Amino acid sequence: MYVELDTTDLKVMGAIKKGLTTFGGIKSGVNLKKDELVKILDILDNSEMIKSTASTGLLGQKKLIIDLTDKGEERIQEYLEILRVKWREMLDLAIAGERAQLDEIIKENPFMVNMMVFFGVTDLPTLSRLNLRFLLEGKHLCYKCKKELKGFMQKFAVSDVRKFNFKLPRGMTTRDDLCADCFNNLTR
Ligand SMILES: [Zn+2]
Repeated sequence: MYVELDTTDLKVMGAIKKGLTTFGGIKSGVNLKKDELVKILDILDNSEMIKSTASTGLLGQKKLIIDLTDKGEERIQEYLEILRVKWREMLDLAIAGERAQLDEIIKENPFMVNMMVFFGVTDLPTLSRLNLRFLLEGKHLCYKCKKELKGFMQKFAVSDVRKFNFKLPRGMTTRDDLCADCFNNLTR
């Protein structure tokens, strides 16, 4: 049986693969509510993507250690290969200036580039350099520390950096913003 996994399921598996093996670790790693994560772990467990073992902590407390099964590991590798192929395809489109086709790909799969960043298939500096940050869904992140810039937070653009004669962070473009902390730490 081949179980369909959605973006969040795969992200949880990715977090486990990155070495987050406790409930709390995964929860903060992928930023999920408790009941959401319980549901996903249940699906992954039932489809034999993960296994859990009980271990005892230093103080005798019981801990649940979550791990990928071989089947789960295979599934993640498969998914990574799809992301890598897709990323190369998108790079070619970007270099050829095929903006409309890129937009089309993202419309079909809004979180794909976010997943590429999450799994290290590409990274934010590369996306910035290629002016492809618009492909990221949803979050607007500080260019330097990658903290999410929420609506009420102060943001600083290239024009602010120039106004104060600060040294522009390498690769920062007019599409990018800095948080107040990073801006205040810039030097002349
Ligand atoms: Zn920052």
